[in-house]
Amino acid sequence: RKTRVAILFGGRSAEHDVSRASAANVLRSLDPSRYDVTLIGIARDGRWIVADAGNGAGIGAVALAIPDDGPQLTLLPGGHGRTLVLERNTAGIRELPAFDLFFPVLHGPNGEDGTVQGALELCDVAYVGSRVMGSAASMDKDIAKRLMRDAGLPVVPYVAMSAMSPLTYDDAVGAVGSPEVFVKPANMGSSVGVSKARTAQEFEACCGLAFRFDRKILIERCVAPVREIECSVLEDANGNIRASQLGEIVPADKHGFYSYDAKYLDDDGAALQVPADVPPPVADRIREFAIKTFRVLGCEGMARVDFFLNGQQVFVNEANTLPGFTNISMYPRLWEASGLSQSDLMDVLIGHALERHKGSR
Ligand code: ADP
Ligand code: MG
Ligand code: MG
Repeated sequence: RKTRVAILFGGRSAEHDVSRASAANVLRSLDPSRYDVTLIGIARDGRWIVADAGNGAGIGAVALAIPDDGPQLTLLPGGHGRTLVLERNTAGIRELPAFDLFFPVLHGPNGEDGTVQGALELCDVAYVGSRVMGSAASMDKDIAKRLMRDAGLPVVPYVAMSAMSPLTYDDAVGAVGSPEVFVKPANMGSSVGVSKARTAQEFEACCGLAFRFDRKILIERCVAPVREIECSVLEDANGNIRASQLGEIVPADKHGFYSYDAKYLDDDGAALQVPADVPPPVADRIREFAIKTFRVLGCEGMARVDFFLNGQQVFVNEANTLPGFTNISMYPRLWEASGLSQSDLMDVLIGHALERHKGSR
């Protein structure tokens, strides 16, 4: 019997479109002779909608579509280890056979932050990747940096700020130790809401932008010059955790940094260098930091851990528990460079999810 996989994609975050592109690629990498895949698109309004070849989504697409009028799904805890999957369409409501596992291919709040993971826990079903705590701790850049710092991992000096207790530009500069600062929402990704300030006036504008996406924002020392190095971490069904080859992101000068546009909108927005040209001792240290970060934040299954390199000095920037899976994305690409095909990568992720669920029974 084939393993019944439900891919969750789209979602209620600002990274909705990125997720649709990631999901198309995950779908393509799942061996159809072994997996029976159902696509569940989460609309921007939060509805879960079955998306299949019949209504526009499917293999070959660059980004999966979420049909507005597709049958709507509801997931409920059925008790006794069962998940109730109810489908509602014009004919009424019917119960669908259960899925063996869920693959959340969602980025940002309401998907990568532990919320969907909590819903799946309640429904007693297996799913790929980190559970509630690892997802939430990694998503909140303030919490993550506190945990990393506490574990002795090198993080960039920063200060967190809420709208209730705003800091002046001078306060922020004093706290982080440089007049050039990065401002970002605490919970977001894909560089959404991230910008750089060098003056009090720019600072106000940057904070306003970041506050559009979160109630808590971070102000960080700008690392310059900076090289951006990424490492993929993968946990198998036996709990072995390994780190991939490193990759480097070189954003085009015109973008200033690795912004949303440079990541996804501009074809020449950034160059990806795999493997990264980093001296072997530094590369080994980065891989060790990547695995330590994964453990410290309580990640499971997978994470892409991102670093800033300033000369020989290494900083851990962040861990992404549901990293991009688009056709140009670093996470699968680094595993390919490390000898693991995308299809094998899917098998490891799914194997980990199924084994963990068995153990939790
Ligand atoms: P996201 O989760 O949205 O990717 P990041 O913290 O990775 O958030 O910030 C996005 C990008 O902004 C980084 O890839 C980098 O190009 C730039 N950036 C963020 N913080 C800094 C910093 N402290 N110094 C230099 N560049 C930074
Ligand atoms: Mg991120
Ligand atoms: Mg990032």
